[in-house]
Amino acid sequence: MVGEHPYGWLLVAVGLAAGAATLLGGFLALRLAGRIHLVLGFSAGAVIGVALLDLTPEALELGRASVGALGVMTTVAAGFLAYLVVDRSLLILSRGEIQHRGHFGAGSLTAHSFLDGLAIGLGFQAGPAVGFALTVAVLAHDLADGVNTVNLSLTGSKSPKVARRWLMADAAAPLIGIGASRLIHLPPGGLGLAVALFAGFFLYIGASELLPESHHRHPRAWTTVATVLGVVMIWVVVRLSGG
Ligand SMILES: [Zn+2]
Repeated sequence: MVGEHPYGWLLVAVGLAAGAATLLGGFLALRLAGRIHLVLGFSAGAVIGVALLDLTPEALELGRASVGALGVMTTVAAGFLAYLVVDRSLLILSRGEIQHRGHFGAGSLTAHSFLDGLAIGLGFQAGPAVGFALTVAVLAHDLADGVNTVNLSLTGSKSPKVARRWLMADAAAPLIGIGASRLIHLPPGGLGLAVALFAGFFLYIGASELLPESHHRHPRAWTTVATVLGVVMIWVVVRLSGG
């Protein structure tokens, strides 16, 4: 039952907030296409900031005793590379089929949002500090997830109706991922490695997807300023919370 879990209702609220941010991003993308570069730039900075300044130190703290600093950082690198390989493979699979590419893109983002929810759920298993760090990482880029789901779906199908359907699926995915995390129980050392893996995922998402996307659409100084502000904001948050 939700009520029996120590963070049960909080997790439901986080899942709903993640879904709401995704929906907001998607609707903004449907309304004001091409004018959300500052939001994308900022969320790129925030996601990279969380991966480097919040998740990686947490993963080192949790996992150093069992696998050492190099073991933890190897897992961060493995997460980065795993995300890269899966992402590129999907791109190659859908090549040439523009209609499929729309579904593949939006579908892989929905799978990604499921992982976002799973990360939050597993994070809270490690403790509230890790749980909140992962919540920040997810909420900071959910708007961008919604924007990207709509844009990818529209490039493929050209149908706002199809795009809205994918947006709904993507918005529901984090809550489902949080629910699924209840079925997985990792030992403390394993949790450190799971957080390291997610740090690698978020590093890739921030540096390889959000950052170039925000900049190639609007190569302006303000986009860059927004990214720097995103990283600085996370540094301040981590500092204030005693990290
Ligand atoms: Zn996401």
